[in-house]
Amino acid sequence: MNQIKAPTSYVSASVIGIGAGLAVYAAQTMGILPNLATFIPATSPLDLKTLDDSIIAACLVVFALALSLTLNRFGFRRCWRWMLVSIVTVCGTGTVGFLVLNVDLLPIPLLLSGGLSLLFAQINRLWSLDRQLARALFHSSAGTNDAIGANTRLLSGLKLLNTVLPLSEAVVFRYDEIDSLQPVARFKGAARNAQDPRRNSVWREGIDLCQRAAASRQLVSQTTPGQNSSTVAVPLLHESETAGVLLIRLTSEFSADDAPLLAAVGSQFARNLERESFSQNQAGSQSLSYFSQAGSKKKIDALNVLKAVTVEQRCEASTLTHIDDGVAIAYLDGTLALVNKTLLGFAGLAPERVSTMDVFDLLHKFRTDVFDEPTIAVRRVLQTGDEYQGELNFEKKSQILNLRISLLRDRQPASINEPIGIALHVKDVTATKEYEKLKSDMISLMSHELRTPLTSINGFAELLTADETIPPQAREFVSIIANESQRMSRMINTFLSVTQLQRKDKQEVLKIPLRLDEVVRETITSLQPVAKKKRIRLVEQPAHRIPPVAADKSLITQAVKNLVNNAIKYSPERTTVTVSTALEAEAVRVSVEDRGFGIPAESKERVWDKFYRVVREGQEKDEESTGLGLSFVREVVEQHGGQVDLDSEEGRGSKFSFTLPRL
Ligand code: ADP
Repeated sequence: MNQIKAPTSYVSASVIGIGAGLAVYAAQTMGILPNLATFIPATSPLDLKTLDDSIIAACLVVFALALSLTLNRFGFRRCWRWMLVSIVTVCGTGTVGFLVLNVDLLPIPLLLSGGLSLLFAQINRLWSLDRQLARALFHSSAGTNDAIGANTRLLSGLKLLNTVLPLSEAVVFRYDEIDSLQPVARFKGAARNAQDPRRNSVWREGIDLCQRAAASRQLVSQTTPGQNSSTVAVPLLHESETAGVLLIRLTSEFSADDAPLLAAVGSQFARNLERESFSQNQAGSQSLSYFSQAGSKKKIDALNVLKAVTVEQRCEASTLTHIDDGVAIAYLDGTLALVNKTLLGFAGLAPERVSTMDVFDLLHKFRTDVFDEPTIAVRRVLQTGDEYQGELNFEKKSQILNLRISLLRDRQPASINEPIGIALHVKDVTATKEYEKLKSDMISLMSHELRTPLTSINGFAELLTADETIPPQAREFVSIIANESQRMSRMINTFLSVTQLQRKDKQEVLKIPLRLDEVVRETITSLQPVAKKKRIRLVEQPAHRIPPVAADKSLITQAVKNLVNNAIKYSPERTTVTVSTALEAEAVRVSVEDRGFGIPAESKERVWDKFYRVVREGQEKDEESTGLGLSFVREVVEQHGGQVDLDSEEGRGSKFSFTLPRL
């Protein structure tokens, strides 16, 4: 534990040092300590000169203080050599002083004060470490002890047993401090217990059975002769320790087939017992726990709770191994914590290879043209906390996989949201994609086929409208046919252009350096007449020095046109529509803002979908409206690696915008 020592630890080390020095000085002045002459016979012990009292006190205090502070600062392992040198020096100079100079240089009191000071300073250090350990243990165990109480979990386990076995009674016993069995949870089944009249002897027999089970660490069963019932004692084992015993009485004979079930449920009971014991055992003051048996017991309980939680977390993690999607979890040092079978299959790896791989090695197996730098994707996720999502097309294997890399965060209240790992989620979308393609192919084919008859309908209808011989009412009908067929072919054309675009790969769109402010200027000029008709002020708000983007000019121009057209179409007269360009960190943003009808909150996500139109009260569905304009915009923008955005408030206006990556 590499932590800066608290100033209080120096204060207590100083108090110990000074205390030890003064205590030995007191003993010295009282004459309790043995004289040096006792150990070293000298010629004239009476002539032995002694030091002044104040010097003796100062020497003892300084020596003890120096040792206790050194021990506190460096620890015994790092400073024992210096201690040895100082002790040897004290003994050496003491002996020389005594034999040669005939002066008592206090070797015995010095050694005693130093020894006492070291002993108490070391005890103090261990005590303080123990307090830290206890605090950490209790804190983590209390944190893992979930909202459901330990006792409730025991009862819930007994209920579960009742649903799978014909129980008449079930009791969970725990070992108390004096190693006798104490019942902690009890469940009575619906079936009447035939043995009720001889309650006490039955209870004693049960306890005997439990003790046999605990001693042998094996399940023990006993069938009552003549009655169709049996009693079973199951030792509750947790990490090779017997935490208690489960005693069940069945209304039928015990079948050996149920032994594995009872062993499995028993180990869950054992974990719950550890919890129960931890929550029951309220040790006194933590600071005295070092010297108390209850304190130590509580620490063992806390450790057992932690062990139980680890087992339960293994159970949570193992659910991931059974799902059809590929899942892997890595710690933040890149080590793989879990890779499920499906993901191994996608990566084409044998399970034994995983132990030698890290998350980057694993991601390397999913490299494609689109996902060519796994390290960059992981770095982005770690930097921003945002998920990475990509569609990986493996043409050789005819497989399309959807890959998601996300940051896992701690859900504990104390460390809320702290990143703790990286999750990879891989889903096979080949079948879905094939189905979607088939669907859109069919629709495109039909739309193509519709175009030919529509052209004739429209052509002949227009011819007929010019025919003066036809009665006026019939001519009106014919002109409706002409208009509607024109509208229908416009719809089909837009639809086909959206579907065509959807099928293209990002690389297929022809991209050249393009200045978006110029596109905006041209669009505004071309749409001014439409705006003027509705007395709408159409203004441009350009930013200075906009860098170019790589884009297909005609597609982007059409997208901007759709947005501006919508802004004019869905705004009342005498309002303003503002088109602006702005530079963002890595992208250029084009925004079209109006003071029109706005979009209701529930439609915000859906306006970008094909054929979606907002229904407004008192507004007839516009006959020019197809619900395809915005889906075209989104398709174009995403093909260029950008993003669309909408900010709107119903009745106050909307701001549609998109970004394209800057060059
Ligand atoms: P279309 O305009 O052809 O119906 P779009 O896909 O362009 O199709 O728009 C979808 C729906 O979104 C429209 O029906 C319209 O109600 C709504 N909408 C689009 N732009 C705006 C806007 N600027 N203000 C209010 N509503 C809008």
